[in-house]
Amino acid sequence: MIDDAAAEAAASGAVGGVLDPEHPQGTFVLEPGVMAPLVARIATSEGSGTHRSMCPFTGAPLVTFPVSSAEDVAACVVRARVAQRAWARRPVRERAEVLQRLGRIVLERQSEALDLVQLETGKARRAAFEEVADIAQVARHYAVRGERYLSSRRLSGMIPLLTGVQVHRRPVGVVGAIAPWNYPLVLALAEALPALLAGNAVVLKPDPQTTLTALWAAEALDDAGLPAGLFQVVAGGPEVGEELVEHVDHVAFTGSTATGRKVAARAGERLIGATLELGGKNALYVADDVDVDAAVPGIVRACFSNAGQLCVSVERLVVHEAIADEFVAKFVRAVRNLRLGPALDYTADVGSLTSAAQLDKVTAHVDDALARGARVLAGGVHRADVGPYFYAPTVLDDVPAQATVAREETFGPVVTITRVDCDEDAVTVMNDTEYGLHAAVWSRDVGRARRVAERVECGSVAINDGYTLTWGSVAAPLGGWKASGLGGRHGSASIDGLTRRQTVVTSRGARFGATLDSLYGLGGDTPSRVLTTALSVMRRLRMS
Ligand code: NAD
Repeated sequence: MIDDAAAEAAASGAVGGVLDPEHPQGTFVLEPGVMAPLVARIATSEGSGTHRSMCPFTGAPLVTFPVSSAEDVAACVVRARVAQRAWARRPVRERAEVLQRLGRIVLERQSEALDLVQLETGKARRAAFEEVADIAQVARHYAVRGERYLSSRRLSGMIPLLTGVQVHRRPVGVVGAIAPWNYPLVLALAEALPALLAGNAVVLKPDPQTTLTALWAAEALDDAGLPAGLFQVVAGGPEVGEELVEHVDHVAFTGSTATGRKVAARAGERLIGATLELGGKNALYVADDVDVDAAVPGIVRACFSNAGQLCVSVERLVVHEAIADEFVAKFVRAVRNLRLGPALDYTADVGSLTSAAQLDKVTAHVDDALARGARVLAGGVHRADVGPYFYAPTVLDDVPAQATVAREETFGPVVTITRVDCDEDAVTVMNDTEYGLHAAVWSRDVGRARRVAERVECGSVAINDGYTLTWGSVAAPLGGWKASGLGGRHGSASIDGLTRRQTVVTSRGARFGATLDSLYGLGGDTPSRVLTTALSVMRRLRMS
């Protein structure tokens, strides 16, 4: 995907060229031949405008592509609706086969996906690989479990034996997925796969910075045999997202809490469903019984994977006083040893921030904390020598409660340290936030860690792991409490949000005249007496 010809094309001003003065041989350049078919997939019409994205490793232009107008979005949803009707009639098993093939394609063609994800986000390759692994897991899970999730249920009815009750799951129709830039492959597909399996169509609005990865996902679904019109990509900024919410039957939104509130308000007015995966201020408690040497590498990863631009990343370390000195010393040493760099291979531990806006926010949070008396134990500096948006993994101590970094989501490589002297205080500190996305507890005593977890107000809690095992356990629901979201993804949670239940009740007695109407036909108080007797018997037999 990256070669010298592309570098030449870039130098000649071809769309998608990257000019990296540090790497004249073409590193961080996309082949126009790869880009053109992707860009051609955008649902757009003449004159809708363009967007130019850049490569965070260099800050140089990456690709210029057309965006979608309001009319394009509306037309896309109409197309999706037509395709969805036929798709919903296909057997679940057939729909599941598409997911099986998609899972294989993502693994087999991972190097294409990894390059694109890295070039659009600036992340380290191992963080990009997490995306490939996640989608392979999600695709396999729903392909295997889908039929069971979607199967109809029989329940007891009003009149035992004479009433048949079935509860079916029906697709909602067209799902609008709106995604941020931080995990572009995961966020293009993680909700789309269960949505498609359930018989829906999906229109995706990715962040403009990571549109190519979303288009690659569309291409992969195409190659997996998904019929046309069922997964389309509209391109552009917030206004395109707003327009999408106006047309779809359900919105699966991932992004900031501020935007989530707006999307939820509009979905409420339209009376459509909304799943909201929002921000967090995640805490990790290090109890006094941990083996510090064994724990440090996992805790470093929990804080700095994807340069902290991960919804379930840890931004607050809550450390038991009894081991705080030893833990902090070893943790800080490991953080200072993290390898930063722009590399399309596995040599870097931590990549770049994705944009100037991210760099500004991280810098502002750290500067504000320092101005209020916090101490920097590691990092605290913009690493322009590595790349325009690189920021050193940062550990802050003595952060006052009023500091922005103590309360607001930084979404960057910055972690604060708070000391506590018992589990009780740890729980209080962990819950002292408007968010409730994810938390972690490190302790040798799993029973003790579970008791802490029980009292933490979060949608998920990991024990002796940062986030990977929670995220990768795709059969279990994952979703935020409090200001971190509504609804959830993974397992049956996605299917719950992406389907409507329909109850079909059959009067079985109609065939031989044993109906409520024939009872009422007896006149007088007979029907009431018969029903009173029946209800009393059911009560005594404890029938549900
Ligand atoms: P954002 O809310 O600014 O944007 C997210 C998406 O919404 C983008 O595609 C954007 O163009 C679109 N958008 C913006 N305004 C809109 C509007 N009014 N109507 C419809 N769409 C609109 O989010 P961001 O700051 O780019 O992303 C980072 C945030 O995402 C962080 O808060 C992070 O925690 C969160 N996130 C959460 C999860 C999760 O699963 N909980 C996962 C990844 C990221």
